[in-house]
Amino acid sequence: MSMATGLLMRVATTIHLPVAYLASLTLRGWAGVVLGLAVLYLRQISTLSKSGKDSPCPPFGIVFRILYGLFGTQVAELVLGRMLHTPEDQPQAEQVGGTTATTVGDPELRVMMVPILGGAFGGNYSFLVWDENDKDRRAICVDPADPYPVLRAAESAALNIQLLLTTHWHFDHSSGNATLRRKLGPSLQVVASAEERGRTPAVNKRLQDAEVLSLGRLRVRGHSVPGHTKGSMVFEVFNAEAAPGAPTVAFTGDTLFCGGCGALFECSAHTFHASLQTLVQRLRPQTKIFPGHEYTEMLLQQACQRNPNNDAARSKLQQAKLLRSRKQPSIPTTLEEELSYNPQLRASPQELAMLCGCAQDDAPDEPTSMRDALLRQQKRD
Ligand SMILES: [Zn+2]
Repeated sequence: MSMATGLLMRVATTIHLPVAYLASLTLRGWAGVVLGLAVLYLRQISTLSKSGKDSPCPPFGIVFRILYGLFGTQVAELVLGRMLHTPEDQPQAEQVGGTTATTVGDPELRVMMVPILGGAFGGNYSFLVWDENDKDRRAICVDPADPYPVLRAAESAALNIQLLLTTHWHFDHSSGNATLRRKLGPSLQVVASAEERGRTPAVNKRLQDAEVLSLGRLRVRGHSVPGHTKGSMVFEVFNAEAAPGAPTVAFTGDTLFCGGCGALFECSAHTFHASLQTLVQRLRPQTKIFPGHEYTEMLLQQACQRNPNNDAARSKLQQAKLLRSRKQPSIPTTLEEELSYNPQLRASPQELAMLCGCAQDDAPDEPTSMRDALLRQQKRD
């Protein structure tokens, strides 16, 4: 028998055995196989680590792991999208969330905050960024998870969206990507971190850590910040021709909020601490921070309970309450402000692990704290 014939026979046997087994199954058996494969698939696509050095804490159960895996599939997009997205002919979603779209910033760097998805995920924001001096009205869009309100907001400001940035793959940040790409055409650049390109819909540009993109005079720098998800990215935007020292803006998704930080789903507290430290070291203290959710009041209440003597937290909470009573967004905040009261941002690795619900000895010993990093940066400046 030749080598080729032997190989063919071995392949035929290998294929024949499972085929014969499947052919002998009853309907119940088939249902079991399909269910088993579905569970394996969902577990495999779920990026929640379950063991090892970089596991999140507290550990997640199997049901949560499966649902989390499902959260990033086309099924979730179809079901949740149908339930939560504003239909094309319906009014702006801001009325649902009780927050009005608001524009802030100098003409060189305008930012419109567009409330989306109502209160389904605690109040999401999408953002439009542009340079008033750009005669072509080119704009950057961040996390348009409810696509039609964002498209209408761009239309109302006569903006031409050319760049779409996705902070991370979660449905409530990325689920408008496909619609925007379909509506705006293939010239739209849809950007996500290189790590999450496969999990984020409609991406045609993957960004590496510290890589810079251009749109007219605007520049976008991506900062890789694993923690909430493995490929989370903070996008810093600035105008290349702005006055020296003019504040830049940063879109932090679910990594950094006003008064707190996002949940640890895919990395350890130690990794998350290193990511937050990266932000503190790379961003200027005056950088305007635009988080992806309106969680300010809730998080500052918690911060005040944790540290009742922190005057900065109390004052920021009063300010946020006033803004919210007027249906205004409580953001942006600044990095400097956050460093004065944000418990997670100010925490040492051990403290951050405790705040995230990890056992104390789960966190590796690491002497550098956020406060030390800020002091070092202030000395440099
Ligand atoms: Zn998220």
